[in-house]
Amino acid sequence: MNDPEKSLQQLSCAGDYDPNSMPVDKAREVIARFLSPVTATERLHIRAALGRVLAEDIVSPLDVPAHDNSAMDGYAVRFADLRSDGETVLEVGGTALAGAPFSGEVGLGQCVRIMTGGVVPRGADTIIMQEHVRVDGSKVRIGGGHRKNQNLRRAGEDLKVGQVALRRGVSLRPAEVGLVASLGIAEANVYRKLRVVFFSTGDELVSIGTIPREGQIFDSNRYTIHGMLTRLGCEVIDMGVVRDDPRLLENAFHDAAAAADVVITSGGVSVGEADFVKDLLNKLGEVVFWKIAMKPGRPLAYGRIGNAHFFGLPGNPVSVMVTFYQFVRDALLKLSGRDPVPQLPTFKVPCTSNLKKAPGRTEFQRGILSRDAEGNWSVRVTGEQGSGILRSMSEADCFIILATEQGNIGAGTLVDVQVMEGII
Ligand code: AMP
Ligand code: MG
Repeated sequence: MNDPEKSLQQLSCAGDYDPNSMPVDKAREVIARFLSPVTATERLHIRAALGRVLAEDIVSPLDVPAHDNSAMDGYAVRFADLRSDGETVLEVGGTALAGAPFSGEVGLGQCVRIMTGGVVPRGADTIIMQEHVRVDGSKVRIGGGHRKNQNLRRAGEDLKVGQVALRRGVSLRPAEVGLVASLGIAEANVYRKLRVVFFSTGDELVSIGTIPREGQIFDSNRYTIHGMLTRLGCEVIDMGVVRDDPRLLENAFHDAAAAADVVITSGGVSVGEADFVKDLLNKLGEVVFWKIAMKPGRPLAYGRIGNAHFFGLPGNPVSVMVTFYQFVRDALLKLSGRDPVPQLPTFKVPCTSNLKKAPGRTEFQRGILSRDAEGNWSVRVTGEQGSGILRSMSEADCFIILATEQGNIGAGTLVDVQVMEGII
């Protein structure tokens, strides 16, 4: 962590710091001040490194491509041999296949049959597509209209020796893994996985596999949180359900902080329950803020317990997912070494629903994007926006983000949407 004491002091001195109603942007900025990424690395075979964060720049040890080569199936010629006033006839002197170069030189009045990827033979400087020649025994007839150097891929045009192919901080997706392989590199240094421990709080919760008694509900948050963390590439430790009992909670917070870089809980931070959790956390660590001016997800605590970061997510299942994606995701990516932290794309589209919105909080309504016959996109809400309706997250493919000061919105208005594709 950066010096958290100092950051906290600076925060409390800032005039607009209200831990009980943090504006969304301010909360993001505050969290970012406390984050310092993992530094430990491990060396992995590139296949095993899929999804991991690169801890070193990958420098190209070679020119890519390594040689001038043909972009087409055709004939390698000397441009100077081509007549500007009509057809040119050239003798085919050999063949250059991908992986089997022509060893000689293309002499005056000669050409070489060449396939895509074949090394351009010495003497030749231009490729004529096979569709543009007529084969006549051992000769080819070539019409006019060609440019010098056409259809060539130059050595080093993609990457030159010594050039940085990938920067530290990128995530290794299939494209990056392939790129590293194309340089002949078998292993890469990646950051160790971030360790995240999580548990649910609530006397009403039962785990799946148990029959709920009256008033009890199934714990779903631990499953969404497990899924979201796994997708982010974290090492996850599930501590189960902890009852609303100060002694049990204290033990759980203590064990969790000792086991991981980040502790995530759900429930127990709403009005009433928050008080004893607050006392506990003030005893075990420090909480930077408790509430965010947003909907859903108003009760969201952020702080630290021992050396671990702490996110106390709300209990309501939709609030859990919204606060995770709007705050925790960025923080975990930064802690994992991602640099820059990738932002989910946001853009404006007309909303075809009327939206209820009271000024004073940023809202993250759940939306469904669709495209009409002309190819224009629009968005509609998923229906009821209650923070307990998890189905709204399942049906949605975007958040409709409504700014703090915004009031009700009439159908047809442009709204900001943030696509969830690939994260939910
Ligand atoms: P809380 O913040 O603990 O007051 O919880 C707010 C609401 O979310 C209550 O209706 C809880 O029953 C519900 N809730 C809390 N934790 C979970 C969970 N792990 N899974 C599903 N619902 C939960
Ligand atoms: Mg509770």
